[in-house]
Amino acid sequence: MSESELVAVLAGNDLYVVPNPMLCTGRTTKRKRCRFNAWPQDCGEWAYIVSRAGILYAIDAGPGFLSEARVQRCDVHTDTPAFCTPEIEPLDPQRHAFLMYPLTDEWRRL
Ligand SMILES: [Zn+2]
Repeated sequence: MSESELVAVLAGNDLYVVPNPMLCTGRTTKRKRCRFNAWPQDCGEWAYIVSRAGILYAIDAGPGFLSEARVQRCDVHTDTPAFCTPEIEPLDPQRHAFLMYPLTDEWRRL
């Protein structure tokens, strides 16, 4: 059951993929997954990265994003038990190829 899309994130020099929205991984007192957003505040603007494989739209979140994304908690659940593991993963050009847009002829001429 996934209602999130995946987005690419540039953190420092490395690319990752996270769900959007990136919900808290904490477990509520009702034993459910927290529905709060766990995206770090003031983090990121859209950027595009052009490569031979195509254009990747990514959120340039800066290196500070990693430490928070690897915990993926909202402010309420920083110390509570986990409902699930954090969902950040390194971008895999093959597995996440659907995030890449092919280069058009206009781009190839540049
Ligand atoms: Zn939470």
